[in-house]
Amino acid sequence: MSSKIPLAAVIGQPIHHSKSPLLHGHWLRRYGIRGHYVPMDVSTGDLRGVLRMMPKMGFVGANVTIPHKLAVFDIADQITDRATIIGAANTLIFRPDGKILADNTDGYGFIENLRQGLVDWDPKAGPALVLGAGGASRAIVSSLLQAGVPKLILSNRTRIKAEQLQGDFGKRVQVVDWVQVGNAVEAAALVVNTTSLGMTGQPEMRIPLDGLQKDTVVTDLVYNPLETAFLRSAREQGCRVVDGLGMLLHQAVPAFRAFFGREVAVTDALRAHVLGGK
Ligand code: NAP
Repeated sequence: MSSKIPLAAVIGQPIHHSKSPLLHGHWLRRYGIRGHYVPMDVSTGDLRGVLRMMPKMGFVGANVTIPHKLAVFDIADQITDRATIIGAANTLIFRPDGKILADNTDGYGFIENLRQGLVDWDPKAGPALVLGAGGASRAIVSSLLQAGVPKLILSNRTRIKAEQLQGDFGKRVQVVDWVQVGNAVEAAALVVNTTSLGMTGQPEMRIPLDGLQKDTVVTDLVYNPLETAFLRSAREQGCRVVDGLGMLLHQAVPAFRAFFGREVAVTDALRAHVLGGK
């Protein structure tokens, strides 16, 4: 076994807001692992040089975030199927042979969060309504289709972007106009907000939710605030709701396993640690 202390990083610009050092740091301490996880502020122009240098410095891998999630595709030597389908990567693994493997664990994190939040959640229970067609939406659409949703209704303010996703993911995806989306709520067994609406500093999500059924599951990718007005409204109507923080925590599990060789759990203590921000 190598005597080197494994290092990992999250790379973005800006990076000071990232919660990844907090959550990986919690697991390193909790499981008594000799290793370090650091934030790295790297410009787009420097990305390739930095990534090629990192393995020589003892780094075993890195998470990548805005604005590098697409750019790493041109730098990686190998790309997993799920990252290829999603069209972006959030995890890089530096292999002992010097090759860089790019992966995307966002869809995995999304599904695991629903499974942990609602143990009886069944993706096959009925149609899913996905709001938004930005970068995060691709991972959600792909993972829901893979999990077996019978039909996926997709709506985005800019309709053409939803149609592009439909073109990529096929006939189980149906596009509805953003101004008509309130009518699609009633048929949905799952409603997901993947837009940035509701995030602190952004406008609220204003689609009419009065058609929601009581047994509909409603989830939001926004986790700042933890309970968005969208989730609160769904909860007040008796729906089952799952917040977005768990997705962030679960997407880190496969990365931690790849970097530090340990299976880790998403616990209340981890949630409290990340929310506490220390
Ligand atoms: P993005 O690529 O910039 O996409 C933004 C989406 O929001 C687009 O669908 C956009 O619609 C929509 N939108 C923005 N302003 C709007 C408005 N005023 N009215 C209607 N729609 C509007 O961002 P992203 O990377 O997909 O991220 C989206 C959100 O998910 C962010 O809040 C991010 O923090 C969160 N997220 C959370 C996790 C997690 O682990 N929980 C992971 C990834 C992302 P248009 O196409 O019409 O502009």
